Amino acid sequence: MRALMYLGTRQMEMQEVEEPGVTPGHAVLKVGAASICGSDLHGFLGKSAKRVPPLIMGHEFTGEVVDLGRGAEGLSIGDRVTINPILSCGRCDECLRGRTSICPHRTVIGIEHPGAFANYVSVPEKSCFRLPDHVGDLEGSMVESLSNALHIFDRSLHGFIRSVAVIGAGTQGLLALQVARHIGATRIAVTDRVPSRLALATSMGATHAIDVRADDPVEAVFDMTDGQGVDLAVEAVGHTATQEQAVRMLRQGGEAVLLGLGAEAPMAIDGVAMVNRELVVRGSYAYTSVDFAYSLELISTGKIDVASMVVERDLEQGPGIFTKLVDDPGDLIKVALVPGS
Ligand SMILES: [Zn+2]
Ligand SMILES: [Zn+2]
Repeated sequence: MRALMYLGTRQMEMQEVEEPGVTPGHAVLKVGAASICGSDLHGFLGKSAKRVPPLIMGHEFTGEVVDLGRGAEGLSIGDRVTINPILSCGRCDECLRGRTSICPHRTVIGIEHPGAFANYVSVPEKSCFRLPDHVGDLEGSMVESLSNALHIFDRSLHGFIRSVAVIGAGTQGLLALQVARHIGATRIAVTDRVPSRLALATSMGATHAIDVRADDPVEAVFDMTDGQGVDLAVEAVGHTATQEQAVRMLRQGGEAVLLGLGAEAPMAIDGVAMVNRELVVRGSYAYTSVDFAYSLELISTGKIDVASMVVERDLEQGPGIFTKLVDDPGDLIKVALVPGS
C-alpha cells in the first residue's frame, strides 16, 4: 500500500509499504480521510520527541472496516467508523478516575503505532465509533479535533460561562468558540492576526473579532466585558506571551485554559493577583471517550460546523502539504489527506 512516511526533521516521502495484517481484537480499516493535526506539524519539524522516524503519522481519521480479528465482534465488515486514537491502560489511577487522556501508560495511533496517512490502518475494535451515513469522511475526521475543544469545557470549574476569550483562530480556536456559543456564552472574543481567520470566526459566532496587529487584545477583551474580564480564556496558540495574555483577560474568579503547544519559555504568573482574584489557570490535554462521543453527536446533528474549516487533498500530495502548512499555510486551516482522491 501507499503510505506517507516521516523520515526525520522536514523529511517525508510517499513509500510503498506492507499492508497491516489483522490481529485479535483489531479491525483493519481502508482509510477514508485523515486530517493533519498541529501536533503532526510539530512532529514534522522534529519537535515531538514521541514521534520517532520512520513513522506513518495520522491520528484524526475515518475508515471502512475491511477485515476483523478474533474477538472484534462489535463491528461488521463495511462499517464506516472514526477512531479515538488514544489507547489508555484502563488500570492506572488516572484511568480509574476517568482521566484517560493523561494515563501515563497511554500510546497513540499515529505516534507510537502506525497511523492513517496510508491506504490501510489497524485499530483496536473498542476504539471505533460508528459513523452515521450522513456524516462524510472529512467531517468524521474532525471528530477528534472537536473532542479537544470539548474537553476544555468538560473540565471547566464554572457554572454558567457567559463570556469567553479565545486566543488564536486556528482549528482549536474556531472549534472552542463554537462550543462557547453552543453552551450559551453571549460575549465571545477571538484574537488572531490573519483577517480571513477572523472573518471565519465571526461567521461561526464570535461577537468580537480582535485583530492583534491593530488592537491590544487584553484591552479589547476588557472593553467587550465593560471592564470586567472574561469568565473563561482559552489559549489555542502556544506562545508564552499569549499564555500570559489569557490570564490577564480574566475576570475575578475566572479561568484560563492552556491548550496550545510549544511555548518558548515558562509563563510568568502574578501569584498575588491569583490569590486575591481567585483565578484558575490549568492545562487541557486531549479528551476522553465521553468527549469523543459527544463530539460525534454535535457534528452529526449539525450543531457544530466543521465542514467550512477543512479541505481535502490527495494523500500523494502529503509531503508538499506538510511543507506548505509549516512554511506558508495562507488561508488553509485544516487539511484532510484522502487516499486516491
Ligand atoms: Zn490531533
Ligand atoms: Zn491508565
